[in-house]
Amino acid sequence: MGDDLRQGPQITPLRLAHSLGSLRPTLHNGPGWRIGIWVQGCSLLCTDQCLNSHFLASDGGHLYKPAEVTAAILRVASIDFRPVEGVTVLGGEPTDQAVALVPVLHDLQEAGFTTMVYTGSTLSALRLRGEPAIDALLAATDLLVDGPFIPKLYDESLPWRGSRNQRIHCLTQRYDDAALTAAYDRQGKGYSISVGTDSILSVSGLQERAAAKDIELGCLHFITREGMAHHG
Ligand code: SF4
Repeated sequence: MGDDLRQGPQITPLRLAHSLGSLRPTLHNGPGWRIGIWVQGCSLLCTDQCLNSHFLASDGGHLYKPAEVTAAILRVASIDFRPVEGVTVLGGEPTDQAVALVPVLHDLQEAGFTTMVYTGSTLSALRLRGEPAIDALLAATDLLVDGPFIPKLYDESLPWRGSRNQRIHCLTQRYDDAALTAAYDRQGKGYSISVGTDSILSVSGLQERAAAKDIELGCLHFITREGMAHHG
């Protein structure tokens, strides 16, 4: 991996849609207990039914050095009573920020955690780009969930994805299809709701905008301070 992708003198910040105060493990963003991070900004704009339409703008959110993000994830994983298996990157579009994500995912893999990344692009399209940063991102990804969200193909029975065109690719030996099926059978379908130390309401595990909005509206009266919600 080149120094440019391991963050040499010019450090490319990671733009997250939330602060690091909202990190927490859930059982609903992939196999096992996983800490989700949501990137801010999406250049793909694959659908007008995006689950996180407030994460599409490329100029919002919070900027962090990759090392800060890695340290925050490791800290939460070390103090939480739940056994954290890995990190899941959602968005927004993670591949837009490949340069900043590579050191985070690489270092988390080195620390023994698994990495899972969502993209509105496809694996074949990403490989065809032939960009070092994209290739490095794929090399640091154990599970890739790919493809645009297509509302007419929405199927609520799908594990960890929303529409039938989307696929889960095992890019390393860390998982295989049997392990994913077993994990989903154990964990089942569901969602979680949490409020971080930054007062952000998070709904995890839903893949469809209307369902997420209904739950948010049902929860918002419990929030005493104004906050933004995110889901995935
Ligand atoms: S589903 Fe993903 S790729 Fe599509 S608009 Fe939303 S963030 Fe962008």
